[in-house]
Amino acid sequence: MATMRCVVVREHGGFDRLRLEERPIPVPGPGQMRIRVQAIGTNHLDTWVRRGVPGHTFPLPLIPGSDACGVVDALGPGAVGCREGDPVVVLPGVSCGACEACQSGLDQLCRDFHILGESCDGTCAEFVCVPAANVAPKPRALGAPEAAAICLVFQTAWNMLVRRAELRAGETVLVHAGLSGVGSAAVQIANVLGAQVIATAGGAEKCAKVKALGAHHVVDYKAKDFVAEVRTITGKAGVPVVFEHVGAATFDGSLKCLARGGRLVTCGATTGGNVQLSLHAVFFKSLSILGSTMGSKGDLRHILRLFDQGRLVPVLDRTLPMAQVGEAHRLLEAREALGKIVLTA
Ligand SMILES: [Zn+2]
Repeated sequence: MATMRCVVVREHGGFDRLRLEERPIPVPGPGQMRIRVQAIGTNHLDTWVRRGVPGHTFPLPLIPGSDACGVVDALGPGAVGCREGDPVVVLPGVSCGACEACQSGLDQLCRDFHILGESCDGTCAEFVCVPAANVAPKPRALGAPEAAAICLVFQTAWNMLVRRAELRAGETVLVHAGLSGVGSAAVQIANVLGAQVIATAGGAEKCAKVKALGAHHVVDYKAKDFVAEVRTITGKAGVPVVFEHVGAATFDGSLKCLARGGRLVTCGATTGGNVQLSLHAVFFKSLSILGSTMGSKGDLRHILRLFDQGRLVPVLDRTLPMAQVGEAHRLLEAREALGKIVLTA
């Protein structure tokens, strides 16, 4: 039987839990397509799958990985949309397609929603089988490593800014960690929307790169207090929208940065998820705190078009061979990367 190499997490722990294994090449089921994977985008989510999350059960053993670019290699019965040999990207959110949420274009609210590499086997493999609905043509303007780096983070940032916070042209948004995966996506999407961007980044090199991405102001959070800087930049008014994904380390400051009537939208908590919240601030300042996770496949297909038009660009730090997946996790956790880290299959 033909086999493939893949990364498997059998138990939670350190980088050594990312084991390279051989498995039979999967056969596409009804409505599925098999992708011969060329490049795999890594995300913070992968590190949570490896480390484990208190109170959450991952279905181990699990192949991590939510993003990938490759070529359609085989079609299961009834799979339509792409043909064998087509260069494609994998859309990371799997949903039933038949419920009210799905049919309203809110796939991420489907009760059967799951993310590849988080609640079912993912993309960190030489081959992956996914529903045909999760396969879209690769933007022609991008190479495989670039195309593998975009879906999860741009979908997440788009849903936060466009669908949840409803950021408008002319408004100002504070984006934390503007060179992180979701941060670099948010800086660019805010620009496409015509908004003003204040971004934070750690250190002069990262700040310069965030500025080049289109941030109008960049605050080096290692050198300066971002709350004081936002007050100065906005003439003490604060910002109408804060883009949060850092969590405990920044949440209190993020609330203080909000103008009256401001909206804070959050998709993550990489520094911890338990925060103190003054209800007085929430009601006296008429604040909105909005949760967001992933986004719709329809929005993601629109985002891919913006890549084809060159209005959004992938931000890559480096590519590594799949066997060095542990090093990719180390770079992510140490915040050493200046952009996305992509594995080659
Ligand atoms: Zn559904």
